[in-house]
Amino acid sequence: MRYSQMLLPTLKENPSEAEVASHRLLLRGGFIRRLTAGVYAYLPLGLATIRKVEQIVREEMNRAGAQEVLLPIVQPADLWIESGRWTKYGPELLRFKDRHNRESCLGPTHEEVITDLVRMNVHSYRNLPLNLYQIQTKFRDEIRPRFGLMRGREFIMKDGYSFDLAEEGANLTYQKMYDAYHRIFARCGLAFRAVEADTGTIGGSFSHEFMVLAATGEDTIVICRAAGCGYAANLEKAAGPASEAPKEPADMLPLEKVETPGQRKVAAVIAFLGIAPSQLVKTMVYLADGKPVAVLVRGDHEVQDVKLKNLLGAVDVVLADDQQIFEATGVPSGYLGPVGLKILVVADREVAVMRNVVIGGGEKNYHFRNANLERDFRVEKFADLRQVTATDRCPCCGGELEFPKGIEVGHIFKLGTSYSQAMKATYLDKDGQEKFFVMGCYGIGVSRIVAAAIEQNHDQDGIIFPLPLAPFKVVVLNLSPNDEKISGAAEAIYQGLLAAGTEVLIDDRDERPGSKFKDADLVGIPFRVTVGKGFTADGTVEVRRRAGATVAVPLADTVALILAEIDREMSALAGQS
Ligand code: ATP
Ligand code: MG
Repeated sequence: MRYSQMLLPTLKENPSEAEVASHRLLLRGGFIRRLTAGVYAYLPLGLATIRKVEQIVREEMNRAGAQEVLLPIVQPADLWIESGRWTKYGPELLRFKDRHNRESCLGPTHEEVITDLVRMNVHSYRNLPLNLYQIQTKFRDEIRPRFGLMRGREFIMKDGYSFDLAEEGANLTYQKMYDAYHRIFARCGLAFRAVEADTGTIGGSFSHEFMVLAATGEDTIVICRAAGCGYAANLEKAAGPASEAPKEPADMLPLEKVETPGQRKVAAVIAFLGIAPSQLVKTMVYLADGKPVAVLVRGDHEVQDVKLKNLLGAVDVVLADDQQIFEATGVPSGYLGPVGLKILVVADREVAVMRNVVIGGGEKNYHFRNANLERDFRVEKFADLRQVTATDRCPCCGGELEFPKGIEVGHIFKLGTSYSQAMKATYLDKDGQEKFFVMGCYGIGVSRIVAAAIEQNHDQDGIIFPLPLAPFKVVVLNLSPNDEKISGAAEAIYQGLLAAGTEVLIDDRDERPGSKFKDADLVGIPFRVTVGKGFTADGTVEVRRRAGATVAVPLADTVALILAEIDREMSALAGQS
């Protein structure tokens, strides 16, 4: 491709709306342009990068025995009503009516459509197992679209769905997808981790998220440091270690109401009363699908919303604000305690073994000391509700934990028969018995991978693409388009690489060398060949790996040297996968 003919509008300034590196660099590098909130156009360079990701995903899905389909984006409400998600999905599902007043939605995911397709067309055990996938635009009306391609409203996903005869086969398919995902992210040249993920109300241990490790990630991962353990989970899911029964059960002391004027925060209360945070129980109020519920956790712990949601079977839980707390309990926030509370009270299981604790006094400027479960307050349900902390140990081996940040780029999930039962999707087994399909679903954020790759690989000058994802592998800078000798050499390298089937961009613009260097660094093409004065002087050109050292290479050797480098690196990534 010739730069002079390409739609590649790079920007000199940082766009003010971009908070993270990938968003900034994708805009500045002319990869994408925003149309409206969370909706982007892919320019040629952006689309070429997307295609790179798609190709790797496609090859590995096909290799794992999955078949590609393309499903409609517009979906009728009927199917969603059948699965029960029309009411459950919430406002991320963009619903609308057509001219015949029929309700429809834009597909945020395709479980309903694929289950319908399979139940209409697959009737016998002989046609199973079946694994179908597509690479397609999804729409989710995200509450906070942000960070460019990282969290869009319209974005590109690979979604796959498997149909098996029974549990055993479904588990095997799951393992195949788990392995295929490892190969995909390794082949993309990314540093990633598969982590145990929340399975929501479906439960079980068959859900993993694939996280690209990057400081700007929205997810926190819990990883065990111990060699050979391998425990890794999303913080949402990571199990709080089971609480030990108190070693010497302390005697219950008499309940005592103490004045704590103006002390609303945990830190203030413990300082004021001279106690440790682990001697206090916090009473938090959440609205679970709009209904207030009190959640008790130890003073030094935090409630994990996802665990709470699962316990309550709620679609949505949000922390109540001061006003809502007062409306639900009649107590000003900061002084709320479980004594005499009329709303549902649940607690983290750690609270069950605490004795003589400090809790809110149920009125302004008061707390209780020496409160005790059963005697002074009740709890309807105990569960693991808290977030794991740095002082916790690995639930598998007792090792030390670390908490890196990650960007979720893939998610695999064993669905079991939840959809096939809801939508009556069955096949006939060997004995002519009607059975439900056992399903799995497997997502990859194709456009998010591009953003994640940049978050993980960039410097102050721009993107540093991993070789397999780069839209062009080589950029040839012709520093003097008006000089015949220099232009001839640049052209020879360009043609040589093209003939070898390598994606190459030649910067043949009538621009200052400085702009050419800047733009090449910005868009992150892995190999840069500079043809300039050096060539006139001694017949060499400069070859530089993005963010690496520059070497002078005789013109005649350049193409072969670059091809060999590319080949070596691509094979290494494919081999390691
Ligand atoms: P998140 O927790 O980030 O909202 P999710 O759990 O809703 O993700 P899935 O439904 O599992 O995501 O979708 C599969 C994949 O699609 C995700 O792993 C992610 O890579 C990608 N994805 C999800 N939502 C978005 C979005 N708004 N923009 C870009 N990619 C997305
Ligand atoms: Mg989401």
